[in-house]
Order: sequence, then C-alpha cells, then structure tokens
Amino acid sequence: MQFELSETHRAIQSSARDFAQAELVPNATRWDATEHFPHEIIAKLGKLGFLGIQIDPKYGGAGLDTLAYAIVVEELSRGDASVGLTVASHNGLGSSHIALFGNDAQREKYVPKLASGEWLGAWALTEPNAGSDAASLATRARRHGDSWELEGTKQFITQGSVAGVTLVLASTDPSAKHRGITAFAIDAGTAGLSAHRLHGKMGVRASDTAEVRLHEVRVSDAQRIGALGSGFTDAMSILDKGRISIAAMALGIGEAALAAAVAYAQERKQFGRAIAEFQGLQWMLADARTELDAARLLIWRAAALADHGKPYSREASMAKLFASEAANRVCDHALQIHGGYGYVNTFPVERYLRDVRMTRIGEGTSEVQRTVIARELLA
Ligand SMILES: Cc1cc2nc3c(=O)[nH]c(=O)nc-3n(C[C@H](O)[C@H](O)[C@H](O)COP(=O)(O)OP(=O)(O)OC[C@H]3O[C@@H](n4cnc5c(N)ncnc54)[C@H](O)[C@@H]3O)c2cc1C
Repeated sequence: MQFELSETHRAIQSSARDFAQAELVPNATRWDATEHFPHEIIAKLGKLGFLGIQIDPKYGGAGLDTLAYAIVVEELSRGDASVGLTVASHNGLGSSHIALFGNDAQREKYVPKLASGEWLGAWALTEPNAGSDAASLATRARRHGDSWELEGTKQFITQGSVAGVTLVLASTDPSAKHRGITAFAIDAGTAGLSAHRLHGKMGVRASDTAEVRLHEVRVSDAQRIGALGSGFTDAMSILDKGRISIAAMALGIGEAALAAAVAYAQERKQFGRAIAEFQGLQWMLADARTELDAARLLIWRAAALADHGKPYSREASMAKLFASEAANRVCDHALQIHGGYGYVNTFPVERYLRDVRMTRIGEGTSEVQRTVIARELLA
C-alpha cells in the first residue's frame, strides 16, 4: 500500500490547481452572483484535457484513470465548485455513457467533440416525479419502424441548456419497469427538444441546471445508446463513477473552506489575541483536517478499485456519503470561524457553504447512499 501520488497524477493535480488559481478563483464570486455560465473557459478546459480525462486518446481524450478524474474535480472545485460540477458531470455522466456503451460509429460521432469541449454533454435521468426512485421515470420512447418518438420532461439536468448532446433515459417498455429503460443521444437543435435553465439555485449557481422537455422528438434508431432495455443498468454503473466525482467536488470545496478558515483565524484578533489561539476553534480546525483526509482516503480507495477493475459501487457510495457530509460540516465551521464576516459575501465562505450543500443531494442523496451501503451489508 502506498499513499503517494504518481508523477502523472501529481502533474495533473498541479495543472488543475494552477488553472483554478488563475482562471477560477478571480471570477467565482462574480459568476456566482450573476449566475453566469462560463462559456469562455470551456475551450481552455478542453485544451488541458479536463473534458476528456478518461477518454481514449484515439478520440482526443487524455486517457487517464479514475484517480486523475477525482483529482481534477477536487482541484477545480477548490477554485469554483460550479466549474467542478460542470467538469464532473460532463466527463462522468454524458460523455462516459456514450464512450462506454455507444457503438463505434456513435463514439466517432460524439466522443472527439466532447473530449475537446466543442460540445458539452448532459445526462438526463431525473424527472419531476422520479428522483431517488429513478426507475419510475415516465419519459416514453415509442418505436415507429426505424425511428423513435420521445415524450417527457427531465428535471435538474446539469448542462441541460448548454449541451451539444443530451443522453436521455426513457422507457421503451413500461411493463418491464427498470428492464424496459433505454438510453438515447439527442443532439441540441433536434425538433421538439427544449431546455429551460433553472434560476435561483442556492449554490453552484454558475453551473447550468435545466428542465429539459421532449415533445414528439423523433430520432433514428442510430441514436439509441446501448442495448434495448439496458439503459437503467448502464445508468447505475455510470452513477457509481459519478459519485466518486461528487465526493471529490465536496472535498475540493471543503479544502477551500478549511484554508480560508485557517487564514482568517490567524489574522482575526479578539480579546487581544488571534482567534486561532482559542481551543474551541482549534478543535474545529483539527476535526476539519481529519475529516477531509478521511474523505480523501475513501475517494482514492474507490477510484483505485475502479481502476483495478474491481467492484466499487459500495465504496463509491461510502466515499460520496462521507465526503459530502464531512465537507458540509467543514464549510459550516469555516463560516462560524469567520463570525459575522462569514455571513456576507466579502469572504467566499458563504459561497462554499451554499455550493457544498448540493453534494448531499446530486447523484443520489445521502439517504440513498446509505441505502446502497446497507443493502450490500445485509445481502
Ligand atoms: C444542482 C443539481 C444538479 C443535478 N444534476 C442532475 C443531472 O445532471 N442529471 C440528472 O439526471 N439528475 C440531476 N440532478 C437530480 C438529482 O440527482 C436528484 O435531485 C436526486 O437524485 C434526488 O431526487 P429528488 O430531488 O427528486 O428528491 P426525492 O427523491 O424526492 O427525495 C426527497 C427526500 O426524500 C428522501 N428519500 C427518497 N427516497 C428515500 C428512501 N427510499 N429512503 C430514505 N429517504 C428517501 C431523499 O433522500 C430526500 O431527502 C441534479 C440535482 C441538483 C440539485
């Protein structure tokens, strides 16, 4: 067992850290306040390989592993969690689904565009009435000869209104329940597809979250990704990897909050001394450091299992559950350490706390992660 990163992982870590420091940190507060989706940095992310981290180099990807993916998401989220989420979901959900389950023609059509950042990918499973119980989705795809007609509404879709392609999970056979769900790639501009960006999110406000509507959307069978009826099983394996990235996102936000709290505690004076000298605050900082390190170990373990081709579903859920809950506590304490100044946006800690809240909900709530872990434990 070794806890050191390889040279390749250290290199990608410092490249993501430098990018976050130069391009994200100076803009994050403004993008958050104005809900600005930063189109201007997408090409740069693509050039650095961050939009095709695990994609085969023959399709223009960086050809790296899950650990590299987690490291990049952590570092970007430290600078701006909205960008971290964009990169996490683009790589882990939309692009991965096509790269892993698409046929050669579909990979050739989509993956180079997605890896370069020419197109962003979205992944649409959740619906207004099907969240945690995703298998109860109501979006229907009906076959007409060699084509399909899709009808339905998807909710909370990251990149929903900026994606070049959206991977849509739809029921092709409602009587077969989750075994009757199939995935389709729907290109932006397809007649009947519309996306409506959601405004007023509590956090990750610079990420694009949209309601995606499909009304009489006609696509050929060539747009079906994976086997008929395998969409739900494929989606669950996609979510396993995605959960590692949301855990990494939480970790990155937690690290930013802890660094801010340490700096502030050393600067701020009350009762004639730095507040860092008060044991009550020292213990908050010590707990934060310990919890973030524990989160990182769980994330890297899940990533290492994935990279060694071993089962990692339970470990991904454990990493996401622990990292998101721990990072929420860390951000809350970081704000507490800032006192009243933490409550206004002069300092970034209030944004960290708003941003990190999403990590306990997206890609399976903490309650759903506990269900996954308990199910394996009791099997
Ligand atoms: C910013 C953001 C981005 C997102 N991006 C995407 C995306 O790109 N693609 C996508 O498909 N989805 C996306 N989602 C949706 C997300 O995955 C869902 O919000 C999440 O799965 C929860 O579903 P829900 O919101 O319908 O809540 P519900 O399922 O209605 O849950 C409500 C509450 O009930 C609890 N609950 C439900 N079932 C159980 C149970 N069996 N046991 C115990 N408690 C339970 C939940 O934990 C939660 O506390 C995104 C969400 C957000 C907020």
